[in-house]
Amino acid sequence: MSERFDIVVAGAGHNSLIAAAYLAKAGYRCLVLEGRPIVGGGVKSAELTLRGFTHDVCSSAHNGIHGNPLLREDELKLGDCGLEYIYPDPVFHMPFPDGSYLTQWRDLDRTCAEFAKFSKKDGQAYRQMITEYETVKPILNAVTFTPIGFGKPINDRLAELPNGKLWQRRLAMSAWEILRETFEDDHCRAFMMGCPYSLQPVQDPMTGRVAYIPLHQQRESRPLPKGGSGALSEALSRFIQAHGGVILPNKWVTALIVENNRCTGVECADGSSYRAEKAVLSTIHIKQLVDMAPRNLWGQDFIDGVDTWSAGLTLFATNYATSEPPKYAIEGGTLSPVHSGMMASSDRALRMSFDYDRGVVNLEDPPLHVICCSLADPTRAPAGMHTIKVVAYQPYSLKEGPLHWDLIKQRVSDANLDYLRRFSPNLTDGKTLARTIESPLDLERMNPHNWHGSCHAGASGPAQSGGMRPMPGWAQHRMPIPGLYQTGATTHPGGSVTGGPGRNAATVMLKDFGTSIDEVVKKKA
Ligand SMILES: Cc1cc2nc3c(=O)[nH]c(=O)nc-3n(C[C@H](O)[C@H](O)[C@H](O)COP(=O)(O)OP(=O)(O)OC[C@H]3O[C@@H](n4cnc5c(N)ncnc54)[C@H](O)[C@@H]3O)c2cc1C
Repeated sequence: MSERFDIVVAGAGHNSLIAAAYLAKAGYRCLVLEGRPIVGGGVKSAELTLRGFTHDVCSSAHNGIHGNPLLREDELKLGDCGLEYIYPDPVFHMPFPDGSYLTQWRDLDRTCAEFAKFSKKDGQAYRQMITEYETVKPILNAVTFTPIGFGKPINDRLAELPNGKLWQRRLAMSAWEILRETFEDDHCRAFMMGCPYSLQPVQDPMTGRVAYIPLHQQRESRPLPKGGSGALSEALSRFIQAHGGVILPNKWVTALIVENNRCTGVECADGSSYRAEKAVLSTIHIKQLVDMAPRNLWGQDFIDGVDTWSAGLTLFATNYATSEPPKYAIEGGTLSPVHSGMMASSDRALRMSFDYDRGVVNLEDPPLHVICCSLADPTRAPAGMHTIKVVAYQPYSLKEGPLHWDLIKQRVSDANLDYLRRFSPNLTDGKTLARTIESPLDLERMNPHNWHGSCHAGASGPAQSGGMRPMPGWAQHRMPIPGLYQTGATTHPGGSVTGGPGRNAATVMLKDFGTSIDEVVKKKA
């Protein structure tokens, strides 16, 4: 391709698409190269099982991105590009092995009453927790959607709150310490730990914020893009193309072009190469990126940071085409929610990271997250039919090695379905029409950014968060090779569908180019 581009983007996850969208709006000519046939990475939908059944390949719930100014302030007017969200109610339902259940509704009083079924005190505790959380939420949000080193550090921001010191302590505590002290009933604790599980071991220090995740979705629900998770990536693609950008699928980037110590383009597996006049923006995993240019250009600090990067907890997903949604027994009938989950007890939640650390598959009362998008969005399946995704949590690095997953994944998927049937017995063999399985190894095979099966590109503990993501000294999206920037889940604020790494990277790049994201947002068209 002889066309000239200002920015070449390597990899088209939602974060790099968001960054490219702001850069394109600023007037820079962007070329986006994606290795797979369809853009979006973890934000993609496809007919994985049968014709007419649109499954979310990875993510379904787009919670985090609703705090991003991209959507919160409607900065790019993605609705004009076809993006529309559905906000399911009930928000989340959890049945327990003893036949009881707890349902979170968008109505706060109704949710508090659900907690109070188990303990009057816990009903009050939930209400108080949410009231307190509302005071700190704007600060946590601002930190998430501000690049590292831009704006005040979190503790300075918290110091401005009357109870800021208490929040400093809470954020440094483990989520388990907070939940154990706040709730007395184990159903309430298990609900808060499994709704849904955050991929961080809840007993680890500095996970305090994880205790508040279920509160985040209390009012905003767990939003689904109408038509499938990929509708977000499609809307962003339309925006980029409408602003002069070009998106090329089936382009695996294999090397960085470095001239006079500056990154000036990329080479692809098919022999093509593309030049960038201003910058290259990568969402390639740092474990792979580091091999795409001579080692001496990165510096030892960066290489040490890559060598010590760890994957963290991993997922195991099965997608089903079914003729019925899950039906859970409740007082007076059954309930069919979009989002439901199983976490048998707080003990079970605490054992998850132990199994992970030992490389052991534990199928006893498996913690599950079950998503049936077709209940709220009939475009996902033929009339009367459904798509169901069953997400479990299993280690990538088995004692027998990751390839062992190919031998055991069917058995693990069967065990998860058997457990789900204890709560939703209607999902018999006759009602499940087809399935596809994604083991942690399959997740890495489908997207090398899911390094070692991690759908967040790596663990999100204190060693790999904030100014340590991807490593100390390189958390501002600027990489050691001038002209090269990094976005995606290996950068602050990490994985999930937040778009934070994307908008933050654009903020840094636009500043380096002599403008600002605020100027670009204000720009007409
Ligand atoms: C089963 C599952 C369920 C999930 N559910 C949720 C959920 O409900 N809510 C939520 O918030 N999050 C969820 N997640 C996590 C979420 O999907 C990811 O954290 C998020 O999509 C990461 O986005 P990203 O932009 O950083 O990169 P990615 O989505 O990983 O995209 C990276 C892109 O770069 C491409 N790429 C990589 N290397 C190259 C290369 N060398 N050349 C060219 N292209 C390359 C990849 O093909 C990919 O398209 C889930 C993940 C999984 C696996």
